[in-house]
Parts: sequence; structure tokens; C-alpha cells
Amino acid sequence: MNRRTFAKRVGWSTLGLSIPGAVARLQAAVPPPTPSGVKNWIWAGVEERSTSDQQKRRFADYRAAGIKAVLFSGVDSKVFALAREAGLETHAWTWTLCRGDRELLENHPEWYGVSRLGDSTATKPPYVGYYHFLCPAREEVGDYLARQFAQLAGTPELEGVHLDYIRYPDVILPVALWKQYGLVQNEELPQFDFCYCAVCRAGFKKESGVDPLELPNPPADDAWRQFRYDRVTQLVNRLVEVVHERGRLITAAVFPSPAIARKLVRQDWTRWNLDAVLPMTYHSFYNEPVEWIERTVKEGVSALPADRPLYAGLHLPDFKTDAEFDQAVRGAMNGGAKGVSLFGGLRKIPDSQ
Ligand SMILES: [Zn+2]
Repeated sequence: MNRRTFAKRVGWSTLGLSIPGAVARLQAAVPPPTPSGVKNWIWAGVEERSTSDQQKRRFADYRAAGIKAVLFSGVDSKVFALAREAGLETHAWTWTLCRGDRELLENHPEWYGVSRLGDSTATKPPYVGYYHFLCPAREEVGDYLARQFAQLAGTPELEGVHLDYIRYPDVILPVALWKQYGLVQNEELPQFDFCYCAVCRAGFKKESGVDPLELPNPPADDAWRQFRYDRVTQLVNRLVEVVHERGRLITAAVFPSPAIARKLVRQDWTRWNLDAVLPMTYHSFYNEPVEWIERTVKEGVSALPADRPLYAGLHLPDFKTDAEFDQAVRGAMNGGAKGVSLFGGLRKIPDSQ
């Protein structure tokens, strides 16, 4: 929890304290997230069919590996309670804008993003069958997600919510994936460029006087690109308010560096008012060596507000040896990360105790 959030939670303006007194009291009341300031995360299922003993054993394994927070891809208060008993933080991992819910596809197909070719992700998702991305500019989409996150944030035994797929579809895929899809994406191809729905076109026209479809070269237009960054940023910051009002933390999985995130998926994440960011510094997706993680973390940390922790996401299947994994962790920490977040497995994190 950052200080702003805490201040909001305790209703600070009613405390009648002078500002210096208030800050001193706040500092006394709110220790950093962990005594050492380091927090490591893991992405995991709730495994609701496991017995309590099995759950306790896996949570003990997490702790022994140096993990302090779990991103659960499911919601189960009983499992969360066991995790907390083991000394772990509980966060609910969520699909945010990529939503293949049948109810939404059937009842609100107009909420989905539309490509520069005019295809909706509701009926013609790009790349893969599940890439049904909602349009972040639609007011109804914002209202719907705000309601959902308000409800989720009220879950007992839950300490935070975690946004994933909070972005546009990849207008350019990470380079290592081009071959898999038989693509060369040295430019923004129209079938992967979003969103040109009626709401986005009218919204941009109102702001700039021009329909984005009538721009001579839409990918080259800075204002059009900025318009789309802002749509995601405004949505995130709205969800931050909703979740903070319920006294929970809110974090997000984002693309590896601010520059890559803007270019590939239009995430301008340094402007998001989150409690922390977890960039997916998955070096193999970009055909990069392990050293790249430190450089990339550094870019993120230097672009963020000083009090905003960054935890580096590591893609476990990428590491062939323990030495390589250890190098990644140390690189992330040298780059200014406050910890790492493990995806795709569990490994003992060096220097974590
Ligand atoms: Zn749209």
C-alpha cells in the first residue's frame, strides 16, 4: 500500500493533523511492504481440489523458495485464508480487456474492438481464437469492469487484484513469435491495428477534427497513438480508484519496458496509478540474452515515480540452468526491481531470505 492509498483509507483529512505531523504518523503506521523491502511473487492456480494439507505444503514450499505474494488465477477465500496463514499475500489475477465470456460475446458484441480493416475481435479475433479484446474507450466497458472489480475487491482474505491483458491486441508481436505466426511485422499491419470502432472514431474526431480512418497514415499519427494510450490509462486509473476504495492493492502485468509496451500493445504504464507494476521481462520472447533483463528493468524503474515498486516477471521455462536463473534474479535486483515474479514454475530465489 502506498501512502496515498493509506491516507485515503483512513480518511485522513478528518484526522485534523498538521501535514508534518501527519507524515510522521503515517511513516510510523505504515512500514514498507516487507521489512527488507523485497517481495517475490508467483503466478499459480487456486487448486481448489487439493486438500488443506496439500495447500499448506505448497504454500510452505513457496515460502521456502523466497516467495511472499501469490497471483492466484482463480478466487477461493478458503485457499486465500490458508495462503495468508502461511504468511503469503493473496492477489487475484484477472483477464481485464481480453474477454471471451460467452455472455459478453452474445449480448454485447459492439463492446469489442474493431481493426483498421473493420473486423471485430468478437467475431474475428487476431492471431488466436481467444483474442476477443474489449474496446477500452467504451463507457459501458468501463462501467462493467468497474462493477466487476468492485465486487472482486470485496472478496474476503484477498489483499490485492492484478490486471493482466490490460491493453490492445499486439499491433506488433514480440519478435520471437513472428515465425510461429508466419508474419513480418516491421510496421503496423491493419488487421492487427485497433481500435477503429464507432466510439473511438467519433471520440478522436471530436478531439482532433479528423476520423482516424481518414488519416493518410494512421500508424504515423502521434495524436491518434496518444489517444489510444490515454484510453487504457484512464480505464486503469478508474479501476485503481474502485479497488482502493475497498482497501485493496492493485497491480498489473505489463509489457517489459515502457517503450516496448507503448509500441507493441499501447500500454503507457508509467502513467498508471498502480501500487506496483510487474513487467513481463521475458527475454526469450525478444530473442535477447539474460543480461537484457537488467537493462529493461532499469528503463522501467527510471521512468516510474520513485515510490512505485517494480517486480520483474521471469518466464521460468526460459532458464536452462540454475546459474542462468540466478543471473536473471540478480540482474533484476541490480536494475532496481524490488523482487521478481515467477511465471511457469517455482525455483528457489537467491538472496531472498
Ligand atoms: Zn473502440
